Amino acid sequence: MDALLIVDFQNDFCPGGALAVSEGDLIAAPINELLDSFDLVLASRDWHPPDHGSFAGVEVDPARWQGTDPPSIWPVHCVQGTPGAELHPDLDRAKVDVVIDKGQDPNSQGYSAFQDTRLGDILRERGVDRLFVTGLATDYCVKNSVLDARRLGFDVVVVEDAVRPVDVNPGDGERALEEMEAAGARLARSDEVKRALAAA
Ligand SMILES: [Zn+2]
Repeated sequence: MDALLIVDFQNDFCPGGALAVSEGDLIAAPINELLDSFDLVLASRDWHPPDHGSFAGVEVDPARWQGTDPPSIWPVHCVQGTPGAELHPDLDRAKVDVVIDKGQDPNSQGYSAFQDTRLGDILRERGVDRLFVTGLATDYCVKNSVLDARRLGFDVVVVEDAVRPVDVNPGDGERALEEMEAAGARLARSDEVKRALAAA
């Protein structure tokens, strides 16, 4: 059983948003092309409380902070219930079966869609053994979600034209893809994936 995971394809991560990823909106086309190839489509949302410890201006209690040290500081983004946290309007939302809200713990970055969510349980309950991963951003939430999926024993295919990096440092996205491959994930283009699934 295959499933498609769309990581954090939200307004704040797209051009015009609070933490815009270059060309982030362009992943809509390859993702929408793939939606009908899957019986289970899951979309994660970065869903932060307003006092999230990764936000600029929020003071973290070092005794309680569980994330990277020192915490990566980001502009305020994807605050629960705000327009910036909504799934991007170009995504064909009607074909998303399950929405997974992540990053709700103020004391951790919450990059991975598996962290403190039911995602792993849902995939197991549905008999999923192979997960196709798309979304934003390659070098943070996509990477951490893929690495967690591998740790949990899922086969993982990263749809390389349906992800985009933040690239805080040039090349971060490329290095993240290499790290995912080293962990056993495969890379494939959306047209290849679509053809392969249609032939299966
Ligand atoms: Zn975040």
